[in-house]
Amino acid sequence: MNTMKAAQIPRAGGNWELVERDIPQPDPGQVRLKVEACGICHSDVLVKEGLWPGLQFPRVPGHEVAGRIDAVGSGVTNWKTGQRVGIGWHGGHCFQCKQCRRGDFAMCVNRKVTGIDFDGGYAEYMIAPATTLAAIPDQLPAEEAGPFMCAGVTVFNALRNSGARPGDIVAVHGIGGLGHLGVQYARQMGFQTVAIARGKDKAPLATRLGAQHYVDSDAADAAGELQKLGGARVILATAPNAKAISSLVDGLSIDGKLLVPAAPAEPLTVSVFSLIMGRRSVAGWYSGTAMDSQDTLEFSVHSGVRPMTELFPLERVAEAYERMMSGKARFRVVLTMPK
Ligand SMILES: [Zn+2]
Ligand SMILES: [Zn+2]
Repeated sequence: MNTMKAAQIPRAGGNWELVERDIPQPDPGQVRLKVEACGICHSDVLVKEGLWPGLQFPRVPGHEVAGRIDAVGSGVTNWKTGQRVGIGWHGGHCFQCKQCRRGDFAMCVNRKVTGIDFDGGYAEYMIAPATTLAAIPDQLPAEEAGPFMCAGVTVFNALRNSGARPGDIVAVHGIGGLGHLGVQYARQMGFQTVAIARGKDKAPLATRLGAQHYVDSDAADAAGELQKLGGARVILATAPNAKAISSLVDGLSIDGKLLVPAAPAEPLTVSVFSLIMGRRSVAGWYSGTAMDSQDTLEFSVHSGVRPMTELFPLERVAEAYERMMSGKARFRVVLTMPK
């Protein structure tokens, strides 16, 4: 029983391999998790296709991990065996660079990414730096906690730091892995919530997620519809479509902000005139650190925000990944580990 199953990518562009590996031991400052669930994020394509500079293969991806600590390395005093924890995209920081010395660990210039710089959660066990762990509330099953560790924290943290205040109009563009959580958070944070997606058929879902307004961007100009409501203080753009995102700038209110937490393949093309005349801005958002993730988990429990998931056992990783890539998943594909 000293081996475990893991799903790895052997080389850039390679196929999924299910392998038996030795169960790893935690070094000082690390813990070992018995993984229970791991969400499949679109950025896992960076591992699959070898798009991350300097990535070492073989690599086990996965940065939406929920599990239980089953071994603790020396020097770790604030976590113990048996605790339920998650780890997300942010896989550690150096404590020494300028940003770390200012306490802005998310912007560490030497930050590590889970499942990219070290093996992630597509496995029965993984090693995690103790500084990256978020405690999972008892009420939250692992397969729901996993997606909060990247998709969840990214949109939650983007919205709560956006400058929008309760009552402001906040639009979420795209109802997918990130967007379906973004709509729920926007509503629960007290914003007048607008969901923007393609097609009439998504309207009932948007309402169910908490949106007070739904804009079908196939039937109407989304920016124009937002202006009819008074303009959005914040638009959270989660659909990976540069052209559609760019066109939303005209839907912003005065001082409005277009927030982009996930990267479309193409550059944005925005009218700077519109930015200047309305003092508007376009900004990126980086997910967050371990405590941001823990805040996400706790807020979600208190407010009833939950991911909608499709579960696949680890053995069916290739199929699960294809399902995510197809864009048809409703809405987060999650791998589950043998008990
Ligand atoms: Zn992710
Ligand atoms: Zn640093």
